[in-house]
Amino acid sequence: MTDIPLVDLHAAHAEVAEEVRAGFDAVLAGGAYIKGPDVAAFEAEYAAFSGVRHAVGTANGTDALELALRALDLPPGSGAVLPANTFVATAEAVVRAGLRPVLVDVDPEHLLIDPAAVADALPGAAVLLPVHLNGQLAPMAPLLEIAGELPVVEDGAQSQGARQDGRVSGSWGRIAATSFYPGKNLGAYGDAGAVVTDDEGLAAAVRLIGDHGSGRKYVHERFGFNSRMDTLQAVVLRAKLRRLPAWNQARRAAAARYDALLAGVDGITLPRTLPGNEHVWHLYAVRVARGRDAVLADLQAAGIGAGVHYPVPVHLQPAFRGLGHAEGAFPVAERAAAELLTLPLFPQITEDQQSRVAEVLAKAVRR
Ligand SMILES: *Cc1c(COP(=O)(O)O)cnc(C)c1O
Repeated sequence: MTDIPLVDLHAAHAEVAEEVRAGFDAVLAGGAYIKGPDVAAFEAEYAAFSGVRHAVGTANGTDALELALRALDLPPGSGAVLPANTFVATAEAVVRAGLRPVLVDVDPEHLLIDPAAVADALPGAAVLLPVHLNGQLAPMAPLLEIAGELPVVEDGAQSQGARQDGRVSGSWGRIAATSFYPGKNLGAYGDAGAVVTDDEGLAAAVRLIGDHGSGRKYVHERFGFNSRMDTLQAVVLRAKLRRLPAWNQARRAAAARYDALLAGVDGITLPRTLPGNEHVWHLYAVRVARGRDAVLADLQAAGIGAGVHYPVPVHLQPAFRGLGHAEGAFPVAERAAAELLTLPLFPQITEDQQSRVAEVLAKAVRR
């Protein structure tokens, strides 16, 4: 029995290999390795894909979040509201942008940022950062209404192409950030990210800050740093972006197959999709009420690359101890961290692979 990986990057590469190789050859012959025409073309294509006018390529997704926040020019030290149940990068970017993370809990059904908790935490804060976790959008209409005049920055690292009420990820907030980490739905061959926005001024600020604060060589208008997209990554991303709608559709089909295979298995709860959402299933995570770690070990022993996203919520990470939250501060996020189990899912996963995952999982939870 061959192993089943959590994500199969070889299978994705096989689909774009020729195009990528030809593109790499052209870049290597040309000698422009940072930005260049491929990055500009990718930015235009990704902006269109995200339903906005501007996209700016960055070195990674964490930088993209930081750049989006810095571009807003918020008062230093002001609060940024974000969910406790996210990848740590969301909180890192807030701190690096000179702001103060204000964590809130998530809703127990979808594990997305809870609008009621946001309403309590928002007074006094300067910005709201919903995270479109696992490939589905946070409830944007209520969040935008609660935010009122405050800017909303979407963390769309896990939601490329996801929609809510027909409107695509990245087009809801004032500005949005995404990541092209290799394992994301749209993955580069190394680190890369992007900021998307309809606001020309914000896009220009992001571009400036991410290029040493400089729009003209050796003139540094504002304090910046270096976060530019590599030309080779843009070649990969252009090839993969053309396949992304079909890949996201294949992820939806695979998620529906897991739903059917796992319906009625006692001891697990299947992931729920918020009404109005078109999910892109970056992760398919079930909840195991008892003994998650033993179930995980059984799956891994059977060669199934299951994982946990994320075993420790942001507020209980040593690096964020300074925020002063004890255990119990965000009970829904804490319970999710103890129960979640991510199953292998990628566009090319086969029915046989999924049946085997379901079979081993059902046996493991019965034990
Ligand atoms: C991956 C991810 C990021 C950070 O992206 P990097 O490219 O790894 O810096 C930020 N937020 C979320 C929710 C992510 O999943």
